[in-house]
Amino acid sequence: MPINAKAAELFKGFSKLERKQRLTRLVEMGALSPSDIKFLNAGSPIKPELAENLIENVIGYFQLPLGVATNFCIDGQDKIIPMAVEETSIIAALSKTARWIRNEGNISTETAGNTIIGQIQVGRVSNFTQFKKHIKSNKTMLIDAANRDVAHGLVRRGGGVTDIQVRLVERDDDHEMAVVHVLADPCDAMGANILNQICEYLKTPIENLTGETVTMCILSNLNDLKLTRARVVLRNIDPNIGEKLAEASLFAEQDPYRAATSNKGVLNGIDPILIATGNDWRAVEAGIHAYAARDGQYRSITKWRMQEGDLIGTLEAPIVVGIVGGVTRLHPTAKMCLNMLEIESASELARIIAAAGLVQNLGAIRALTSVGIIQGHMKLHIANLTLGAGAKADEIPLLQKRLEEVLAFRKRITLSNAIEILKELRNELPLPIKSKKRSV
Ligand code: NAD
Repeated sequence: MPINAKAAELFKGFSKLERKQRLTRLVEMGALSPSDIKFLNAGSPIKPELAENLIENVIGYFQLPLGVATNFCIDGQDKIIPMAVEETSIIAALSKTARWIRNEGNISTETAGNTIIGQIQVGRVSNFTQFKKHIKSNKTMLIDAANRDVAHGLVRRGGGVTDIQVRLVERDDDHEMAVVHVLADPCDAMGANILNQICEYLKTPIENLTGETVTMCILSNLNDLKLTRARVVLRNIDPNIGEKLAEASLFAEQDPYRAATSNKGVLNGIDPILIATGNDWRAVEAGIHAYAARDGQYRSITKWRMQEGDLIGTLEAPIVVGIVGGVTRLHPTAKMCLNMLEIESASELARIIAAAGLVQNLGAIRALTSVGIIQGHMKLHIANLTLGAGAKADEIPLLQKRLEEVLAFRKRITLSNAIEILKELRNELPLPIKSKKRSV
């Protein structure tokens, strides 16, 4: 969706609309097609046969709520971001913070590097120097063979294997370990399967060339050669707010206990998009955590600083995703979500994901350094507790009201509170004429 004044108008009041109206508005925005609406209204049915082709011992599907984050303008383009997630408040906080940035600043993104890393391990190398020499002098031959015999599909698209490097990895005994890094550009795929195939293909020629024995071949999820960056600028921010946000950032940069929770908040913005687009969220999570600990201490992957009256936020992380491959085009909901994003490359998807992670982080630290995190969570949390306590439709409004009162008074609320109050309410309410017994 190119940036236009109409988009801002269409984003307005989105959260207050009913589901049907939201769908109509998404069609107006060009984010969904009438057939998408039909699919969503029918409960997004997906045939069990598809699942049989994806995993083993299938018994059905697990459904997560699918929502959209609004108000995003990334690199001058309006974006509606699909998110599959069960946690209360994530989408609300993200959309609210995106609106703040839309009004007072901007979001820009970039990628640095395009190769992912495959590893071929020689667990006990008898002569590392000779091993390295053989690989180095045959590097071009190995790259050409891998590109010709395995990665030809990537080469045709401008990617494929680009380099082979050798590392010595220390062991805690008298032996030495050699690791060959195979670098490849996976184009618009995440590339895990294709790179694993490339590494396994190279196993035999490497053994033949060096006389050493390969132990294992697998890609690395620590993709520090393919990084995605997002930057948020908030102009002329209230210095008190800005300084507090910078203080919160320092806390997460310096203290691993805080860094873990800060990065969890960033991942609140990242994982739901990975899931909605059929990407491997375990792979991205592993990569982000490993990158966050790259200097030996686990740190926040975001940073906020005041600069001449502006607040500047940055995120840098490996976010290796695909818009082809895996289940991205097989799962009908993932396919619909990818279409909604109007993207043409995997790097564009990674940049949107990085932007969402950074904006989510801003929303979280803004709340933490002002009203606290509880306020934003409570409305939907109370709704969850009401359902959890087993309230019926006619009991819900009164139970929610009572829970809000308890929360205002005691500053905390639990499921047992909800159950207890529901019991009291039922004693106060007139008894139903006939109660149906649940059959098991
Ligand atoms: P894939 O196996 O489906 O391969 C992608 C293929 O798509 C390529 O081989 C290429 O021929 C084709 N293709 C078509 N158009 C393309 C384009 N524009 N750019 C690039 N390729 C194009 O998928 P993959 O990306 O190789 O692997 C992803 C899967 O691997 C995910 O499901 C992931 O869960 C899984 N996986 C991950 C790990 C890990 O992260 N450690 C390990 C093993 C498997």
